[in-house]
Amino acid sequence: MSENKIPQATAKRLPLYYRFLNNLQAQGKSRVSSKELSDAVKVDSATIRRDFSYFGALGKKGYGYNVEYLLGFFRKTLDQDETTAVTLIGVGNLGTAFLNYNFTKNNNTKIMMAFDADPNKVGEEIGGVPVYPIDELEDRLEKVRVAILTVPVSEAQPITDKLIDSGVEAILNFTPARITVPDFVRVHHIDLAVELQSLVYFLKHYPLEDEEEE
Ligand code: ATP
Repeated sequence: MSENKIPQATAKRLPLYYRFLNNLQAQGKSRVSSKELSDAVKVDSATIRRDFSYFGALGKKGYGYNVEYLLGFFRKTLDQDETTAVTLIGVGNLGTAFLNYNFTKNNNTKIMMAFDADPNKVGEEIGGVPVYPIDELEDRLEKVRVAILTVPVSEAQPITDKLIDSGVEAILNFTPARITVPDFVRVHHIDLAVELQSLVYFLKHYPLEDEEEE
C-alpha cells in the first residue's frame, strides 16, 4: 500500500496525472507523449519524465507512455480499489456544494456523512449524504479517517479537537483558521478567499510573458 520511495512532490502530482489519463482512456487513447501530458497538466516534461521513472514507466521515443500501464500503477498507488470514507462538518453554503458535488466520479473518495449544529439542517439528506447533529459525531465516526471542515472560523479548533478524539487523521480545512493538531494528523489548508486574492495579485503584478509556440 505504501510507496515509500516516491518523493512527496511527485506523490502530490499523482491525482492530477491520474485524472488526465483516465479521461484519455475514456476517449479510447492507448498512449500519450510527455509533451501532451505536460501541456494538459501544466507540469514541465522533464519533471513528468522524472516522476514517471519512479513508477518504472520509461517512455519510449516516438511512442510515449502506455496509458493502461500508468493507470494500473496509479490505481494501486492511490488505493483506487478501495473507497475512502470522508465526513463533512458544517453544512452551510460551501459544505452543501461539496455534498452535491460528485467526488467519486474521478476519485475513490466518498462523503459518507455530514454533521451540523443547526437543528434545521440535521435529519435531511443532501446529495444523498445524511446530515447528523454534531453531538453524534463521536458515536458515528467509527471508520472515518478523513474530514472536510466547512464550519465558521470560530468553531474550527473545537471541532478539530473532537474529530481527532474520534479517530480522524486527515483534515481538509476550508476555514481561514490555522488549526493546531498533533503530529500524526495531516492537515491540508484551502482558503478560497486567499487563493483568489493571490491570483488577482499575480495577475496585476506578474503578467505572463507571451509564450512563443516552439
Ligand atoms: P449558511 O448560509 O447556511 O449559514 P455559511 O457557509 O455562510 O452558510 P457559516 O456560518 O460559515 O455559514 O456556517 C457553516 C455551517 O456550519 C452552518 O451550516 C452552521 O450551522 C454550521 N456550524 C456552525 N457551528 C457549528 C458547529 N459547532 N458544529 C457543526 N456545525 C456548525
